[in-house]
Amino acid sequence: MQLVTVKKKNFADYRQFIEKETEFELDFLVQRLKGKKIAMINATAYGGGVAEKLHSMVPLMKDMGVDVDWWTILGHEEFYNITKNFHNCLQGQEGNLTSSNIETYLKYNKMNASYMKDWHYDFIVIHDPQPAALIEFREKGEHEKWIWRCHIDTSTPNMEYWDFLYKFIVQYDAAIFTMPDYVKEGADLKNITFITPSIDPLSMKNIPLEKEEARAITCRFGVDTGRPLISQVSRFDPWKDPLGVIDVYKIVKKDFPSVQLALIGSMASDDPEGWDYLYRTLRRAGEDYDIKVVTNFNGISDLEVNAFQTASDIILQKSLREGFGLTVAESLWKGTPVIGGNVGGIKLQIEDGVTGYLVNTVEECAQKVLTLLRNPVLADDMREAAREKVRKEFLVTKNIQVYLRLFYQLSFPEHGFQKAQDQN
Ligand code: UDP
Repeated sequence: MQLVTVKKKNFADYRQFIEKETEFELDFLVQRLKGKKIAMINATAYGGGVAEKLHSMVPLMKDMGVDVDWWTILGHEEFYNITKNFHNCLQGQEGNLTSSNIETYLKYNKMNASYMKDWHYDFIVIHDPQPAALIEFREKGEHEKWIWRCHIDTSTPNMEYWDFLYKFIVQYDAAIFTMPDYVKEGADLKNITFITPSIDPLSMKNIPLEKEEARAITCRFGVDTGRPLISQVSRFDPWKDPLGVIDVYKIVKKDFPSVQLALIGSMASDDPEGWDYLYRTLRRAGEDYDIKVVTNFNGISDLEVNAFQTASDIILQKSLREGFGLTVAESLWKGTPVIGGNVGGIKLQIEDGVTGYLVNTVEECAQKVLTLLRNPVLADDMREAAREKVRKEFLVTKNIQVYLRLFYQLSFPEHGFQKAQDQN
């Protein structure tokens, strides 16, 4: 198990984004939680939405006076190959969970649990399935509360995987899902709470960039800044549908020949299948030089993601299935219209026709792209609504508020457990 070092952040800088009563509540919760220690545990310190969120939430909580540490579990490729299957199969993909897979999964969880021997935390928050079985190998302290934070959609899981995982998560004191739809029907878990992920408005990925500055950065990747640009920022993964995005672009290109497409993808250390899918994407793109496929391996990091989200005329997030889709909130925050797959957390963020468009098919998506390209004034109308939606619901301060409420409710059960979302 490895302690993640985080960069310092100042909560005072974030007060500008929140209302007075939220400030009061946050200050109250921090006071009441004095002396409590919290551990966040996930699989990786870099790559993907979970790590991203922890990098902003953990240092901010620390600066507010919350005693929180972030740990990542240790694993090798054999473990990550299996947990990648967990990730996909819990979201419904077919596949068998073999006894050797189970053995490997448990072996790594047991090994990581052995690092926890001398731990003294009041709250242990486990993110996603990779470390979910730690609870099985830990002699739980009397006042220790375990919380499972599920970032994926487990509503219609592959039952073999779900039944296996269920044995562990049922032992937790609370479970957090992104939205009610994601909870498997009949799951008898304690203290179910809902928290949407959030973005950090002051991170390098989200700080305001001038359009010209953003365009200059995209130019370095071969984008012609005088022509329209549509982009998708996502891992190369079947659920993110990069192949569908290329098909959308090809339809649009017929009516709007000047259009360009950028596919920006990060390759994560716990995502061995990502490389295969990147190559499939490149094959689908073929020799069309107006399609740019770029990754963290050729110069994309946070500032570049910010630049593409700011400079693009339209952002797509054409997911076929999605946990939340942080990239949607990131782009809406920049006032760039987003066309998203009508699935998962994207539905929470895009109000169809108000902050963007929700689409079900390649054809529908292409039509909406054409609508926006032909009527830029529509995009202007969406800008303010999009930013306000994100400010109220999807900034990191909101996320912290809901976590602290949950810790408070678990610490003082005499106050009764109330779903955090009901208190908004
Ligand atoms: N991301 C990035 N670089 C990339 C592609 C993605 O930093 O090349 C970030 C993206 O901006 C977002 C996160 O990775 O913050 C992906 O989160 P999301 O919820 O959209 O999807 P996930 O990968 O967690 O399924």
